[in-house]
Amino acid sequence: MKIAKIDVAEVNIPLVTPFKTALRTVETVNDIVVRVSADTGEAGYGEAPPTAVITGDTKGSIRCAVEEFIAPSIKGMDIENLDGIMRKLHSCILKNTSAKAAVDMAVYDLFAKSCGKPLYKVLGGSRCEFETDLTISVNEIDEMVSDSLKAVEQGFRILKIKVGKESLKDIERIRAIRGAVGPDVKLRIDANQGWTAKDAVRIIRTLEDMGIEMDLVEQPVSAHDFAGMQYVTSQVNTKILADESVFSPEDAIRLIEGRAADLINIKLMKTGGIYEALKICAIAESFGVECMIGCMLESKIAVSAAAHLAAGKSVITRADLDGPSLCRIDPYTGGPLYEGSRIIMNETPGIGITAVPGFEERQSAAEKSESGRS
Ligand code: MG
Repeated sequence: MKIAKIDVAEVNIPLVTPFKTALRTVETVNDIVVRVSADTGEAGYGEAPPTAVITGDTKGSIRCAVEEFIAPSIKGMDIENLDGIMRKLHSCILKNTSAKAAVDMAVYDLFAKSCGKPLYKVLGGSRCEFETDLTISVNEIDEMVSDSLKAVEQGFRILKIKVGKESLKDIERIRAIRGAVGPDVKLRIDANQGWTAKDAVRIIRTLEDMGIEMDLVEQPVSAHDFAGMQYVTSQVNTKILADESVFSPEDAIRLIEGRAADLINIKLMKTGGIYEALKICAIAESFGVECMIGCMLESKIAVSAAAHLAAGKSVITRADLDGPSLCRIDPYTGGPLYEGSRIIMNETPGIGITAVPGFEERQSAAEKSESGRS
């Protein structure tokens, strides 16, 4: 099975409510989708969101990296030479991790299809079902409380609370949500780099002293503030999760060895796909550090690739894969099942997505013009 063709298209999916973090506000998922076709007629699908404020990737840069750099360097390669394909993918262009991730997952999709197995089983097959949290956007306290209660009503038992806008008010946000949802709901706090190290320690200690339990606090300080991450991690009891601070396996080693985080958040858009994410899993495992799997504002293709990785590797003990739950519609056919907080894998070979609108429409338009000509 050889790589014959790589196509790029766009998806546009409205969100249920605007997604707000300390870094940005987004109202639709407008992502690049990639189809890697094999000479056998099989296709693998991938997706990349333009998360410019985190990865630096835009729709234009993703499209250009795929079409002008990655596609020419891996076309014609045998899908069974997965290692060779991945080495080319990562060496043909620097950075551009979202573009790499989209092609990487499409190649893994094809590779698992060539094995006749769902991807999570090819990656280790640790479990066939797991639980995700749901993100609560940063807003006024009343709105965050009502969003949290709605999520709990929908069956979510873990909430990821976005904060990091105003440090004192963040304490009030978390306290009000804890008060409303009660002690049984797990709270993950994501400051998205919004605090200083001293603020972070003060906020987390205050919450700890109030008896407010938190599953973790994510990226309290700036991505590049290594000393700040070390300081916060050493000064509080709550687990600190590194997100924007860790893109590569090298970042993971530095953070873990420097005790600058207790947990690592893996996102395919930061690592450049599954191949590098597996290296972070192996590093974390050897240090006895647990990982979370996260996503950007991604729809079901990219989130499902991440879901397969999470279901494949036991070192991933936490999941923040709420992308599909935030989307108003599901334009794809197939893939794992997203049932509220539960993500359920199935036995379809590959990632499991069997139809992606951008390509189907284009194909039928091409077929039409073809038949019009004859
Ligand atoms: Mg985060």
